[in-house]
Amino acid sequence: MNKDKHKDVKYVTDARLGPLISSPRFSKMQELSGGLYKVVMSKDVIQRDMPTQLGATVLSGAKVVMLDFVYEHLDKLFERKYIRLLGMDTDSIYCSFASRNLKDLMRSDAALRLYEEQLYGQHDVKPGEVRRRFWPRQCCDVHRKEDAATPLLFKEEFSGISWLGLGSKMVHARGEEDGGQDKLACKGLQRSRLSNAYDTFRVVLRGEGCVGGGENISFRTFQARMFTYRQHKQVVTEVYLKGRIRADGVTIDPLLIR
Ligand SMILES: [Zn+2]
Repeated sequence: MNKDKHKDVKYVTDARLGPLISSPRFSKMQELSGGLYKVVMSKDVIQRDMPTQLGATVLSGAKVVMLDFVYEHLDKLFERKYIRLLGMDTDSIYCSFASRNLKDLMRSDAALRLYEEQLYGQHDVKPGEVRRRFWPRQCCDVHRKEDAATPLLFKEEFSGISWLGLGSKMVHARGEEDGGQDKLACKGLQRSRLSNAYDTFRVVLRGEGCVGGGENISFRTFQARMFTYRQHKQVVTEVYLKGRIRADGVTIDPLLIR
């Protein structure tokens, strides 16, 4: 969607290569077999005619799906004291539940029926017949596979035993006890540079230390020369700008903006 990134690609022989390489629009080149070259050039003219309402619709549409899931579905199934919403992104949501078996937590028999109807009761739904469901069907192998690739359904991507969220894209989740992988998002820092992420996040979350970080090591070119660099980044911070965190370190109240 970002037209700035669109390129022209040309396939040329040796003889026509020179002018392309010396052009300021030259981007990169790859030698193919038979004396042929693939040359990637920046665009001469970029026509800015991408409808921005399209991008805005995708994002706001995704948010409606999320809000629908929370307020029109989760709240119908569970009382809030048994679930806690932890973090949400455009296309994912983290929740913690008071039991591994969701059926133990349902607020009523009707809630349980609503849940089970989505899992097992939609085997005979004809294509095109709209019946909103949030979970992938579990009624049979065919539908289990089909729904695993159906958009707008909430599929389990990760499950674990702890979740420490400090802010956007700053999350550590500990995997299941039987050898599950941990999950780490740490924007601004090369993942391998943060040693002992769990403890760092925990210390920061509890206010026992205000920052944590690490050293990014990489290379970049500058004025036709190549340099390696080391840069210390204090990115794991207790500063959270999207809401007011209560003393429990968990509950967040909205900002008062006048
Ligand atoms: Zn089925």
